[in-house]
Amino acid sequence: MSTREHSPIACNAALAKMLAEAVDTCARCGFCKVSCPTYPFGGGFETFSPRAKVAFLKDYFEDRDVLTPEWVDRLYRCTTCERCQTVCQTAIPLVALWESVRADIVTKGLGPMPAHKKLRALAEEHGNPYGEPASKQSQWLLPEHHPVETADILIFGGCTASYRMPSMLQTGVTILTRLGVPYAYAGGEEHCCASPLLRTGQLDVAGELIGKNLDLIARTGARTIVTPCGGCSKTLKQDYPAWTEKLGKPFNVTVRHFSEVYVDLLRQGRIKPSVAVNKTVTFHDPCHVGRSQGLFDEPREILAAIPGIKLLEMPRCRESSRCCGAGGGVKANYPQMASAIARERLDEAVATGADTLVTMCPFCQGSFSQAIKESDASIGLSGLEELLLASLAQ
Ligand code: SF4
Ligand code: SF4
Repeated sequence: MSTREHSPIACNAALAKMLAEAVDTCARCGFCKVSCPTYPFGGGFETFSPRAKVAFLKDYFEDRDVLTPEWVDRLYRCTTCERCQTVCQTAIPLVALWESVRADIVTKGLGPMPAHKKLRALAEEHGNPYGEPASKQSQWLLPEHHPVETADILIFGGCTASYRMPSMLQTGVTILTRLGVPYAYAGGEEHCCASPLLRTGQLDVAGELIGKNLDLIARTGARTIVTPCGGCSKTLKQDYPAWTEKLGKPFNVTVRHFSEVYVDLLRQGRIKPSVAVNKTVTFHDPCHVGRSQGLFDEPREILAAIPGIKLLEMPRCRESSRCCGAGGGVKANYPQMASAIARERLDEAVATGADTLVTMCPFCQGSFSQAIKESDASIGLSGLEELLLASLAQ
């Protein structure tokens, strides 16, 4: 077996060897194919399945096939939801495979897809993929919020929450404020966590953004980073440690998704939900919080603690939760497919009979908010923290 020496995958010899050996183990069982949210949008062609992509990559790694534009397109039709990885019979690290190959594609000048190039240009110029000025970054702060100069906790808003879907961030910070938990916030100085760039293989600009955030985090002296975003928390927890080594910058912090903080406060008795919130809800596990970080019990523990909440689970929940369709650069470059996946998931939520769909990632929230508008579905949408805040006595 040979892996190409000129490939960026091959630049990391250990990763190249591991991936080449991993694709060799594929049993062609097809479990990944039937679990993949994007495969059904390939017209039923096997070439759009994760199984076929693995078979292609085996040939590609062994110099028996080449990256055609069609294969590049197929390899970008993936939300990095990790579902294939959880069902893979031979434990192939499929998401590492998809992301490494995308980096390979970018280095060879064969990608990324057009919308991803725009994200890159905006992130390079403005520090965020929405192209918003840094002066707007802290506009989500409410009058009752009082960030301090230095604190153990540093709030990392993330681009989607800060600029597009601020309610989860605002509510989370309101809860901390009410409890008297001090927090710092470096509004205007935060850069994109780099998730959209890492997932689409644009490692050079990702490294620049990560370097700036590592400098900022070190400057604040914070020991814990708290964020409402699934993508940011996954990236900060799982990608930053490797980059801190590569960039030679310190990263001596613990990263926590807001749901982890709520559970801690609940267990410590500092949060005491006492006001009934009479809702029948269903919960959507965001891929990058659930499968990526294993945070399945935490949101359910919070919901169970809120008086009046009745939880009706969707058949596909926890490890087998269906993706909202937004991740991995799919929403940016394949918006119709992303919307269709979100509507499909919304249908599952409606079928439970719940009156409210609850989630805990602003990216998922944005997808479902759009899906509800498009489909006129008779279901409400709420962030986990909104319900929690409503249950706390003033
Ligand atoms: S990560 Fe998700 S979208 Fe990508 S191939 Fe696997 S199951 Fe399909
Ligand atoms: S689930 Fe794993 S072993 Fe089965 S076809 Fe997919 S990649 Fe191959």
